[in-house]
Amino acid sequence: MSAVVLDNVTKVYPGGFLAVDQMNLRAEEGELLVLLGPSGCGKSTLLRMVAGLEEITSGDLWLGGKFANHLPPRDRDVAMVFQNGALYPHRTVRGNISFPLEIAKADPGMTRERVVELSRALHIDETLDRRPATLSGGQRQRVAMGRAIVRQPSLFLMDEPLSNLDAGMRTELRMEISSLVRALGVTTVYVTHDQVEALTLADRIAIMNRGVLQDIGTPAQVYNDPATAFTAAFLSSQQLNLLAATVRTPQNQFVMLDFGPHQITMPWSDPRAYAVSQHTGSQIIVGIRPDALTPVPEQTDGPSFFGRVRTLEYHGHEWLAYLEAGIPAVNVPEPPDPRHNAYANGGGGSRARSMMRRLWGSGDSGA
Ligand code: ATP
Repeated sequence: MSAVVLDNVTKVYPGGFLAVDQMNLRAEEGELLVLLGPSGCGKSTLLRMVAGLEEITSGDLWLGGKFANHLPPRDRDVAMVFQNGALYPHRTVRGNISFPLEIAKADPGMTRERVVELSRALHIDETLDRRPATLSGGQRQRVAMGRAIVRQPSLFLMDEPLSNLDAGMRTELRMEISSLVRALGVTTVYVTHDQVEALTLADRIAIMNRGVLQDIGTPAQVYNDPATAFTAAFLSSQQLNLLAATVRTPQNQFVMLDFGPHQITMPWSDPRAYAVSQHTGSQIIVGIRPDALTPVPEQTDGPSFFGRVRTLEYHGHEWLAYLEAGIPAVNVPEPPDPRHNAYANGGGGSRARSMMRRLWGSGDSGA
C-alpha cells in the first residue's frame, strides 16, 4: 500500500490561478520522495495539500490507504518542517523538541530520554537549555527537525528545510536528514528547488513545472534518461546545450544528427539510435551536457564540433568553455594554454567530440 497517493489532484487558488494541475503521484512506504522544480511551480502548494493546510480543489488524496481530502491536519499523523522552522521563542531547545510529546501526554521519563537521544543524533545536545534566539540558523533548523521527528509520525513533509543555510551547513544537515529518515523508515516528501539536493537525497525525484508533473524516477533515471527537455535542463548543474538538429538515416546505415555545419553519427548499436530514427526527416532538439563532450586535437577522426572560445568559466576542478553561437559549451579539465593555438585533449571514445580553438588575442578565424 502506498503511503501517499495523489489522484488527479488540482489546486486553483481563489482568483483562478491554477497552481497544481491534475497531479498523479505516489510515495511508497518508507520512501524519500523529492519534489523538485523552480520557484512558483506549485511544490509547496502540493505539500500543503498533503498536510491539510490547503484545500484540494479537485482530485483525491489518500494517506496510508485512507481517503484524506477532508481529514483535519491533526488527524493525518504528519510532521512538517519548513524553510525557517519557526520555534517557540520562550521555550528552550529541550522544550521545543519535547513539545509534541507533551501535547500527546507521553510519559515524561520517556520524553526526556527521547529528547536527549535525538539531540545527540542532531548534534545539538549541548544547546538543550538554550533558547532559539541564541542559536545559529543551522542549529535552529536541527531543533525544528528534532521537533518534527520526535513523535515518529507516519509521514514527514519537508519544505526546503535547508535553503536558509550556508553551503557547508546544507551539505552536513542534508547527510543527517538522509541517514535519520532512513534509519526511522518514515515516508518523507521533501520539497526543494536545488537539483544537487534532490539527486543526493532522493529515492525518487518528481520534477514539476508550472503545476504539472514533468518526470518521475530514481535520480539516475531522471538524470540519464530525462522525459522532457525541461527535466534535462533543470537537472544539469551546468548549462545544458539544447541544439536543433535534423535527423537523417543515410541508406539506413546509421543515424545522423545534422546540426547544419556539424554532424554527429550514431551507430545502430547506440541504445538511443532507434528512438531518434523515428524522427527521420524532422527537426528535433538535442540536449548535450558540457561534460559529455571531450576537447580533441584539431585533426581528429570521428564527429566533432569546431568553435572559438568566447568565455571560460572557472568551476573549481574544471573549466566551462562557452563557444561561439550554435556550438555547444564544453567542460575542459584545465585552462587552455594561451601559447597554443588549438586546445587539444585526446580523450577519445566519447559519443560526441568537441574541437575548439583559443581566441586569445590572435583574432584567428575559427571556421
Ligand atoms: P517556492 O519554491 O518559491 O516556494 P513553489 O514551487 O513552492 O515555489 P507555491 O508556493 O506552491 O510554489 O506557489 C505556486 C503558485 O501559486 C505561485 O505562482 C504562487 O504565487 C501561487 N500562490 C501560492 N499561494 C497562493 C495564494 N494563497 N493565492 C494565490 N496564489 C497563490
